[in-house]
Amino acid sequence: MRQRILVVEDETGISEPLAEHLEREGFQAEVAPDGATAMAAFRDRPFDLVLLDLMLPDRDGRDLAREIRGESPVPIIMLTARGEEVDRVVGLELGADDYVVKPFSVRELVARIRAVLRRHEARPSRRGVVQIGAIRLDRDSRTVTRNGEPVELAAKEFDLLQFLMDNAGRVARREEIMDEVWDPHWFGPTKTLDVHVSWLRKKIEDDPALPRYISTVRGVGFRFASREDLGADR
Ligand code: CA
Repeated sequence: MRQRILVVEDETGISEPLAEHLEREGFQAEVAPDGATAMAAFRDRPFDLVLLDLMLPDRDGRDLAREIRGESPVPIIMLTARGEEVDRVVGLELGADDYVVKPFSVRELVARIRAVLRRHEARPSRRGVVQIGAIRLDRDSRTVTRNGEPVELAAKEFDLLQFLMDNAGRVARREEIMDEVWDPHWFGPTKTLDVHVSWLRKKIEDDPALPRYISTVRGVGFRFASREDLGADR
């Protein structure tokens, strides 16, 4: 079955040739010229990937990215014009998987699309529930509870927590986390990771200053406590 791509872009000079090219590359492409049309299409039909322009006539692409991400783990590639007030970190914090600066070569964009789709499919499709200490994470419903109380997490916070819990008891290196949870082409600073870890600690730790679950391994990365660790200090 052909993979379906939703192209959210108001400039027909970009969206039409892009959709044609995607079709020639074997994808099924559908164009939405504004945010409202995009959300209606997205809620009505399944898509494998969303190409999302930052500047739309009816709303900010960043808000739309957040809204889509709140409803689905579908991969998102942001399209931004050079000089637009979105840097890589901001784009990725919104939950986008990658982003491309206009004017882009269609060939490069297709390569990025294929890479994002491959990565998305290669993600271990572990299912079900993992519980460590008081923290219970449900991979299917993407919900987390702490002592039975719901914990509200943003999409990236959830992805990060899931990755750390799936690797509980071992140190996850910073680069490895950036690769798995953010973007494998990452070369920039990884401050966004520290920011997300501090947010997670505020939500799941009894005392975020003295974390029991997520410990920092200085210069290396982070480690989520194993069940044995938590049992030992009780
Ligand atoms: Ca636009």
